[in-house]
Amino acid sequence: MIVLKFGGTSIRNSTMIQRTLEIASKKLPKKVVIVYSASGKTTDHLVTIGEAARNGNKEAYESTLEQIITHHKNICNDLSISQETADDLLEELRHFTQGLLLLKEVTKRSFDSLLSFGEFLSTRLVYAYAMSKNLSVEYHDSRTFLKTDNTFGNAQPNMPRTKELLKQRIGSSSASIHIVQGFIGSTEGGVCTTLGRGGSDYTASLCAAALDAEVLEVWTDVPGIMTSDPRIVSDAQPLSALSYQEAAELAYFGAKVLHPATIQPAVEKAIPVVIKNTNEPELPGTNIGPNHTPTIKALTSKSSLTLVQVHSSRMLNNHGFLSGMFTIFNEHKISVDIVATSEVSITVSLEIAPDDKLLNELSRIGKIIVLQNQTCLCAVGYRVWRNANLLSKVFSAFGKDIPITLISLGGSENNLTIVIPDSKQQIALERLHTVLFG
Ligand code: ASP
Ligand code: MG
Repeated sequence: MIVLKFGGTSIRNSTMIQRTLEIASKKLPKKVVIVYSASGKTTDHLVTIGEAARNGNKEAYESTLEQIITHHKNICNDLSISQETADDLLEELRHFTQGLLLLKEVTKRSFDSLLSFGEFLSTRLVYAYAMSKNLSVEYHDSRTFLKTDNTFGNAQPNMPRTKELLKQRIGSSSASIHIVQGFIGSTEGGVCTTLGRGGSDYTASLCAAALDAEVLEVWTDVPGIMTSDPRIVSDAQPLSALSYQEAAELAYFGAKVLHPATIQPAVEKAIPVVIKNTNEPELPGTNIGPNHTPTIKALTSKSSLTLVQVHSSRMLNNHGFLSGMFTIFNEHKISVDIVATSEVSITVSLEIAPDDKLLNELSRIGKIIVLQNQTCLCAVGYRVWRNANLLSKVFSAFGKDIPITLISLGGSENNLTIVIPDSKQQIALERLHTVLFG
């Protein structure tokens, strides 16, 4: 059993839709479950419709609805399947949203039903096309197996129940290919819910875990997880393999290919997750799995951080200082990312600029120094940082012209973090990338 997940860009038109089934057919005779997102920008358009209905903006409502209708009708045409395939769903969408527009009211609950049209439309079209090609295929309505609580907009799946239902429906079916909607579930009472934007990855991971899949392939529009952000570092390369933990470290830095929480069900079962590029299916992609290889994997960065240093001689041989300081951050609901301490001072990095109230409270426990416009560079790789030769190579890249404002090593076995001024982000990344991967 293999689970494949295709995102919106991977099914934005008929050619891409055909490709997804070619990819699935190559996996046969293994059983394949395919989890689809909504086609192209359909979910964004549905969000626009919901907002237009709430604001009584009839023009925006009409034009966006027309866009969705035309988009899906064009795909039917291009796939040579009957227009009727989508007609009744599109009609239902029109009626449903007219009601919202009339009332100018869109509750969280109706918003979920509204967004679900995207995935229902895409899977309906793919299924009709697969049938026209005589594939051994079965269509499943995710509401019948993905059971969730009633937190509309961000529903939490009931894993044991979902597992049981998935096994009953897909596990015991003899069809080769199973088509399901990502992102959508339902409450025990059958009311439609969604798992939050981007939730199809979560659906795919739940299916893989429930059905004991040998692999989960997430098909997207990038070549995989890269050694660095290709918009900043022109030499960035796709990574062939990394561990779950390394992938999680990278996610924080905007390698938003996969959110760590969404693949958790697959991680718990040690199911490998492979990121593949639908535009270039023959490329190997990035394999994320339970095993660590002790090599340097990636270099990432995050800019516009603020460093706050609190200096207090009271800290010397004293307890309770850190807890006092973190209590203040906690009360302000501010999350602290990097921490470095000396015997008499502590420096933390924040994603937001601290306000006067916070600084006043902190200044009660010590002298404060604030450094703004800072970039954190993070080199990720399991257990490579005990090697002083590597460290010396890393630091030589900074030379005299890039001041280092903070270093953190040993927080985990996976990364080395160095903070520098924003103005040096590009040059520092380029130089470090050459040192580490060149
Ligand atoms: N279609 C949904 C979204 O755009 C779910 C997904 O794509 O994963 O957020
Ligand atoms: Mg996505």
